[in-house]
Amino acid sequence: MRDFLKFSPAVSCGLINADSVYPNGSTDLIAEVADSYFRDWASQIDRFVQQFVLQRDSRREDEMETCVEPCQLCGVGNLQKFEIPNSSVLWVCRDCELYQYGEIVDEQAYAGDYHSGYEVHRRGKIRTARIRLNRIRSRLNLSSRPRVLDVGCSIGATLEAARQIGWDAVGVDVSQDAVDYCCQRDLSAQKVDGLRLPFPDNEFDVVVNWHVIEHVADVQATLAEWHRVIRPGGMLVMETPDAASPRVRKRGASYRKFWAPEHTYTFTYQNLKRFIERAGLTVERTPMLGSLFNFNPLLGGYAALYQSYHGLRRLLGIQKAFQIFARKKVMDSATPLLASANPCLDEKVA
Ligand SMILES: [Zn+2]
Repeated sequence: MRDFLKFSPAVSCGLINADSVYPNGSTDLIAEVADSYFRDWASQIDRFVQQFVLQRDSRREDEMETCVEPCQLCGVGNLQKFEIPNSSVLWVCRDCELYQYGEIVDEQAYAGDYHSGYEVHRRGKIRTARIRLNRIRSRLNLSSRPRVLDVGCSIGATLEAARQIGWDAVGVDVSQDAVDYCCQRDLSAQKVDGLRLPFPDNEFDVVVNWHVIEHVADVQATLAEWHRVIRPGGMLVMETPDAASPRVRKRGASYRKFWAPEHTYTFTYQNLKRFIERAGLTVERTPMLGSLFNFNPLLGGYAALYQSYHGLRRLLGIQKAFQIFARKKVMDSATPLLASANPCLDEKVA
């Protein structure tokens, strides 16, 4: 049976799984064909692979330990212990495949050297950030200068890229070192201590975060707070490690490089989508290329190659992270705004 998993890239993430192909940046044509012909039975196969992996991993343990807490998404107690050797422990839900209840690390874990490795690649990161922002711009229908918040801004690559293309960008990070680094480069960044963002409601056209959501203490409360600061019709765009990636499913807990000890969660596209929708946003198709005419020819060519390469990797099921694009609903003007519509946060503060 293990050999079956060798084929799981094509099965669970590639040619026949609409739910994986559709959101992860394939062309519209492929997404629509996959959508029409394969959605139902492909998701059943994906579900089968998920169940097979969970059962296989539970057989590796002599006795199955269960968690007293319920699944944070399903609300029922069907969690299985998932122990990364010499590292951390997570609990995976056998229904929705959400990895959760990882140990919450002190923010000191993100101080000092945590971001220094990124500095070497800063130029490349700025270039990548420009490509990402350009894809987001293709979804915004903006008439004026957009205002963007980068949560977990680190060394400010996204802030720098936003400045280069004329966006108004603000970053927040739990690391004072990262914030100082940004401020030294005249980028707007603020330190935050936790969940609450120091901004009024409906402040931003876009909230972005790259590999941040898997670190937070409470995913639902965090999404509610991000939702609060996005304007109606604005976007939330994020990228996070993919627990449904075939290589991750195949290697399980032994894939040490994938399971960082500071991750409190690891998501699949499907379970993160459910969290986002619960927070009041609508998940949209991830654009493949975005508009390329905003670049000079050289960078435009690079952007097309870069995104095609990553799109192909997603189709083949060898990408280990996914992106998700969501939009805040445009509410009736009579609807009360969100200051009081964040029950998760109110609970925390109380
Ligand atoms: Zn669950």
